[in-house]
Amino acid sequence: MIAASQPDRQPDGASPASRPARLVADDRGRWQRELADAITSPAKLLAMLDLDPALADAAIAAGTGFPLRVPHAFVRRMRRGDPRDPLLRQILPLAAELTTAPGFVADPLAEQASIATPSLLHKYQGRALIITTGACAVHCRYCFRREFPYADQAHDNPRQTLALAAIAADPTITEVLLSGGDPLSLSDQRLSALTTTVLHTNHANEIDDEVCSAIQKLRQPHVTLLNQAVLLAGVNDSVDALAELSQKLFRCGVLPYYLHLLDQVRGTAHFDVCQSRAEELVGLLAARMPGYLVPRLAREVPGQPAKVTLAPRLPLAL
Ligand SMILES: *Cc1c(COP(=O)(O)O)cnc(C)c1O
Ligand code: SF4
Repeated sequence: MIAASQPDRQPDGASPASRPARLVADDRGRWQRELADAITSPAKLLAMLDLDPALADAAIAAGTGFPLRVPHAFVRRMRRGDPRDPLLRQILPLAAELTTAPGFVADPLAEQASIATPSLLHKYQGRALIITTGACAVHCRYCFRREFPYADQAHDNPRQTLALAAIAADPTITEVLLSGGDPLSLSDQRLSALTTTVLHTNHANEIDDEVCSAIQKLRQPHVTLLNQAVLLAGVNDSVDALAELSQKLFRCGVLPYYLHLLDQVRGTAHFDVCQSRAEELVGLLAARMPGYLVPRLAREVPGQPAKVTLAPRLPLAL
């Protein structure tokens, strides 16, 4: 993740990952409109995808508190009539979210303990993270901040000024991550001082020509783009899916950086891939790809000085 100067932006709204950094006059406001038009009705989504309308009841029940939200652009990349589509699985609330599972809790990363100043998380040496907003273009069902108390960590301007002052007062901090929510949903003014570009892509189907051309606009000469994915059962838990993701990212000029093990937040047990299977997958990936296309398999362990890297490591059997 590399901080870079701020590309031209249009005011306020939330942002899909595919939003171009530099909008031409005709595009003015397009991404804001697109986000305002995001689909929040399960019945509407199911109808658009030719899926069984009976799935809507579970989606409404499981979406209480963290409802369905997905922009049309993401839906367009889904296969119609396929309830197992890997992009759909990331956004459609399922009855499985209502079941409890041991070890799956509200704040799996113990983030509440790392809040130094409201909206500032300081977990690791030299690096701090600002919660810039609670808004996201997409509601990812596996989100580890799905129960984050954004209202208490208000990211309004005065609080952010306090957070920035705390960063300025701490000379050990050399890197600041903008997080949320989606920091690219902020207005130009609020992002004018800082830009961090992170891509967050879990499945190759999310990257089509439109996304790739938006990435080209972000790839100004001094900007490095890295992707972090979460390993998700039923979405990308196969060597083929991971290999295709790495290759497609690289073709668009993005390097795979992290592959995270799922943070065990309540309601997401159906996405879990166990550590040994995850290590095996990344080992198999390492056996068939060049090193720069193999993401680091990482787990966040509260209290550790950095994310714990588990793989790649060639399986001994190979
Ligand atoms: C992951 C993370 C970092 C550090 O990211 P690296 O790329 O591993 O340096 C810093 N702060 C928080 C809160 C994080 O979750
Ligand atoms: S914070 Fe990230 S993972 Fe969570 S819903 Fe927003 S975009 Fe998805």
